[in-house]
Amino acid sequence: MSTDGGFNFKATHEEVRTQRNTSLLHSVIWHNNVPRKMSFLVWRLMNKWLPVDETLARKGIHLASKCTCCSHIETLEHIFFSNPIADELWKHFAGLIGIRYATFQNVNEALTTWSLSATPGHIRQVAPIVILWSLWEARNKKKHLNVTYSYHSGQHTGDSY
Ligand SMILES: [Zn+2]
Repeated sequence: MSTDGGFNFKATHEEVRTQRNTSLLHSVIWHNNVPRKMSFLVWRLMNKWLPVDETLARKGIHLASKCTCCSHIETLEHIFFSNPIADELWKHFAGLIGIRYATFQNVNEALTTWSLSATPGHIRQVAPIVILWSLWEARNKKKHLNVTYSYHSGQHTGDSY
């Protein structure tokens, strides 16, 4: 299997699974149907290279950390998945495209779930990238220009349906 002398058999299954997912995600993100600026954003997101408050705080830069939509600490997980607007967007597109809706913990999980069994460049693969891009754009607009972004009625109750 591996020509790497340090191959760890205990980790085999997990490593193979991770490698397979990584190469799948790579082909999804850098597909020709995806605008390059979006590819780069998702790439940075996967590597946690986006300067959100939580990341800056770990580097010793302390801001009054607040999400742009609520008072939650600004984390990648909150911006892209758990905040109510993000949740609505994922749910909405899952419904449109016919994917069983589920909440995700991170970008790898989201992209893998949406991309499996789709042909390269298919809307199922491109949609999550567009969603992530939109959420990041909205966050930046709100953060830097103080433009409020809302989706549908813009409700922010945190209620579940
Ligand atoms: Zn929030």
